[in-house]
Amino acid sequence: MTDPAVDGPMAASGSAAAERSATASVPKQLRIGPSWRDASAATGLAVEDPSTGETLAEVADATPTDGLAALLAAHHSQASWALTAPRVRGEILRRAYERITADSARLALLITLEMGKPLADSLWEVGYAADFFRWYAEEAVRTDGAYATAPAGGGRVLTMRQPVGPCLLITPWNLPLAMATRKIGAALAAGCTAILKPAEQTPLTALALTEILLDCGVPEGVLNTVTTSDPGPLVAAVMADPRLRKVSFTGSTDVGRILIAQSASQVLRVSMELGGNAPFLVFADADVAAAVEGAVLAKMRTNGEACTAANRLYIARDIADEFTERLTARLAGMRVGRGTEPGVETGPLIDAAARGHVDRLVRDAERRGARVATGGHTMPRAGHFFEPTLLAGVPADALMLREEIFGPVAPLITFDDEADVVTAANDTQYGLAAYIYTRDLGRALRVAEQLEAGMVALNQGTVANSSAPFGGIKHSGYGREGGREGIGDYLAIKYVAISLPD
Ligand code: NAP
Repeated sequence: MTDPAVDGPMAASGSAAAERSATASVPKQLRIGPSWRDASAATGLAVEDPSTGETLAEVADATPTDGLAALLAAHHSQASWALTAPRVRGEILRRAYERITADSARLALLITLEMGKPLADSLWEVGYAADFFRWYAEEAVRTDGAYATAPAGGGRVLTMRQPVGPCLLITPWNLPLAMATRKIGAALAAGCTAILKPAEQTPLTALALTEILLDCGVPEGVLNTVTTSDPGPLVAAVMADPRLRKVSFTGSTDVGRILIAQSASQVLRVSMELGGNAPFLVFADADVAAAVEGAVLAKMRTNGEACTAANRLYIARDIADEFTERLTARLAGMRVGRGTEPGVETGPLIDAAARGHVDRLVRDAERRGARVATGGHTMPRAGHFFEPTLLAGVPADALMLREEIFGPVAPLITFDDEADVVTAANDTQYGLAAYIYTRDLGRALRVAEQLEAGMVALNQGTVANSSAPFGGIKHSGYGREGGREGIGDYLAIKYVAISLPD
């Protein structure tokens, strides 16, 4: 394992030896209760490098039996973890924040190797991920209640918040570290035990994180990690067991719907962080140069594979030519390549299916009359690369304005009127993030209030912030992660009716 104190913060990047050492440093087994153990199935789960198609490593491939063993371990540890002093829980998370920060080069390299995005994006993710542990370390000691006199007198109302119990945490591949820390931090701070089920494309990051948390003092059974190539049966078995009390899911709306339906039988607490279709509105009074940089960040970070990615760029007609010209130049100048190479700004998509989906959306928009300003094609090389792409004049019926693109493609639509653009922005089943660029404060607040989204970024290209409540409305889900609200998703309210005659 790389020691940043000895090797410097970037020592893990850039060489085949460093890559081998990073993948070799990660445990490949399941973590259940007190031990690392093999899965009950004989076969392994191969992890692919999306920039080459080559196998990086093989990890254990859990079955439903392993999932239930993980739930049993979480169940057995629940009572003692709930009784562990909040300060102790918080200090473990704080140590994990520090460990992740110190280990950022190795973790970023792991993310880049199995997910594909450039190292700079992965390093950003490591910082974002660590910050959830810092935040929840601080929140662990603030799960307060209330004490009130009953309005009629003669009694008191005591309200307390208690851990909901064992939680199943299901995460996607696009931010494999941050989506895990955002859930684990809240669950552990609240006093809940957990089973982490990472995406099958990115198990190495999750296993490395699990080891760090154990090293930092998370007791046995409090965090259990199961990697699997067949999540449906495993998750269904765990969710059907009455010992589970909550499921927190980040992923697609389609899978979210399945899990919401499955949660009914045990009446589970449910948090859903689902897909998005973020509008990016640039008004005529905006700082165009800043809006272009914001669009590059909102569109291209994480290869465009982010739930908050700007999916539809609505540009006021007066500035549309200037904006298009500048953004075309920025995207055309982006260096595409393997995420580990110096200077690379965008990497491969996660797999062939993802690249095929992006290609279909671009061909569909073209057929309907959109103009390719730059890019527009898959790249003839190993790995799942697609060119950074700008499409101008995208018609309202193009599929990419309805579906998540999840790739480095920016569709541009010109608008004339504030009310019309708000209507167009809201014409989607999703409601996760939205972006506004304007220098008019009245317009900024008016439009922010009218947009149907859980999060609105004003004159900036990101909403990521551990101290803010992250989440969506409509088909983008419910529940919030981060902020003062995040820990509340893992706490059940109990009220005690006290007789206290005057
Ligand atoms: P996905 O296919 O829905 O998978 C997400 C997770 O669910 C993975 O761990 C996956 O395991 C698991 N899964 C798949 N089918 C399942 C089933 N039948 N039962 C139980 N679990 C199942 O999504 P993805 O492609 O990994 O991620 C992209 C999506 O996530 C996008 O829609 C994106 O917008 C969304 N997302 C949302 C947020 C947010 O905070 N709102 C953040 C990031 C991403 P396998 O990997 O084994 O299939």
